[in-house]
Amino acid sequence: METIELLRQGMAEYGLDTASAEGLMTYLDAMLAKNEVMNLTAIRDPEEAVKLHLLDALSLLTDFDFKGKSVIDVGCGAGLPGMPLRIAEPSVNLTLLDATGKKIAFLQECCDAMGLSNVTCLHARAEETGMRECFDVAVSRAVAQLNVLSELCLPFVKIGGWFCAMKAVASQEEVDTAMSAIKKLGGRLDRQVDVKIPGTDVVHRLVWIEKIAPTPAAYPRRYAKIKASPL
Ligand code: SAM
Repeated sequence: METIELLRQGMAEYGLDTASAEGLMTYLDAMLAKNEVMNLTAIRDPEEAVKLHLLDALSLLTDFDFKGKSVIDVGCGAGLPGMPLRIAEPSVNLTLLDATGKKIAFLQECCDAMGLSNVTCLHARAEETGMRECFDVAVSRAVAQLNVLSELCLPFVKIGGWFCAMKAVASQEEVDTAMSAIKKLGGRLDRQVDVKIPGTDVVHRLVWIEKIAPTPAAYPRRYAKIKASPL
């Protein structure tokens, strides 16, 4: 089966409109081509990348209405999950943030080539941007343990907004360990949703945290401090 058909089938399985499938493949092809000359992803097989990158990222759309939302993807790497989210839901106003300049340069090139508006590609460390409480949603995949990640992500989120951490199913201990951090940072664990990635036996977990109070000004701390004494 052609990879785009695999993508369309998976999107249909999620109940999503498949109109953006071509745009999603354009992004994935650009990522896999760039991966030949710089290290963007360990997944080189296009079918695996459709499932474990595109469909995994799109699982976000099965559980939350992103229409018109401002979203920051913290530690986006090659643009995951933010790029698929923005391509499939064009009303999203997306900020892609990563500490690695060449990844952000790739994403800027890719957005320019695809003519994607409402995407800001930002080369910075999450804890050093100074941006506070200005996004409806923060999303993040494969960046840090939840207690550390909450300190990087929750400061960005408006009160009444959401932080979604994309995790493995075996993450209950990690979530339990992060409970006091989440509370200190103004969050409240709302729900954990398990999603099976179409065409695989892989089940991933979306951990949804609501921002219910301001994050105290002391957070985020410098990264060395966050790592040395996680909340
Ligand atoms: N989210 C992508 C994905 O799921 O494929 C990339 C995951 S990669 C394992 C982790 C990324 O987080 C790297 O690109 C790294 O540069 C970025 N990162 C780690 N700590 C960060 C921080 N404090 N601020 C911004 N980016 C960070």
